Amino acid sequence: MLPIVHHPGYSIEWPERHPFPMAKFRVLRRRLSTLAFDDRDDVGWITPAPATGKALLRGHTADYLQRFYLGEIATTRRTPSGFPWSPALVERTLLEVGGTLAAVDSAMETGLALNTAGGTHHAYADRASGYCLLNDLAVAAHHLLAEYRLERVLIVDCDVHQGDGTAWIFRDEPRVFTLSLHGEANFPFEKRQSDRDVALPRGTGDDAYLARLEAALDPILNDFRPQFVLFDAGADVHADDRLGHLALSDHGLYRRDHRVLAACRRRGIPVAGVIGGGYDRDLEALAERHAQLFLAALALISE
Ligand SMILES: [Zn+2]
Repeated sequence: MLPIVHHPGYSIEWPERHPFPMAKFRVLRRRLSTLAFDDRDDVGWITPAPATGKALLRGHTADYLQRFYLGEIATTRRTPSGFPWSPALVERTLLEVGGTLAAVDSAMETGLALNTAGGTHHAYADRASGYCLLNDLAVAAHHLLAEYRLERVLIVDCDVHQGDGTAWIFRDEPRVFTLSLHGEANFPFEKRQSDRDVALPRGTGDDAYLARLEAALDPILNDFRPQFVLFDAGADVHADDRLGHLALSDHGLYRRDHRVLAACRRRGIPVAGVIGGGYDRDLEALAERHAQLFLAALALISE
């Protein structure tokens, strides 16, 4: 059984010319329907609840959360989050984090689960950054430590941008290992130190990317021996992404996602995947890139 978490509220009304493709979650959901994900009895759809204050307080400061709820954070395009604040934005952000938490809970039962959103890795404990208001990966890792008493959680961040917020939040937390593969020329221009960083040059394509991924991931899985893996499958490593400087193909995305999920499954490690970044005005093309994660997962549970 492959649990997939989705909420229609992930996509909200959005300024037409805003560079963040807020409608992509809805288009991805429709794409998964087109790919017959609704017709399969080995796929279980889950509708998440908004993340609770209790869960959020493990990854964020009370002061920041209060300002986030009340809109007392700077949220114009030139300010840290890049988002225009609204009550609807708060609600969809809480649903997105709730979705990653639901995927984590499901993966603890089934071994593998996916969220059709998530991967907001630039958010810090006390501030927004780069289209990220709350850090779902950090909240989810804390959830695993607190609710399941895990002692080793690995975050595999394959978004083209470095997971700087996550790295910083867990800089002094030995129970959470952060691995980030990212474009060295991409945002954030001031990188934080993850437990393991793999900075890739402009134009890195499928084969070189996969070689660097395998060289980094396998030793961590063998040595750190995580009890859970959070996987950020950012699609902004794609050659046609508007923001990313890497050059993966659709099939390269599939191979990457299959590789990460298979490495976890082979070792019996539960894994929850989130879609991460992806920026393209062509939402159908973007949805197809994000769909590769779901196709790879489906192939794995069918093996
Ligand atoms: Zn990104």
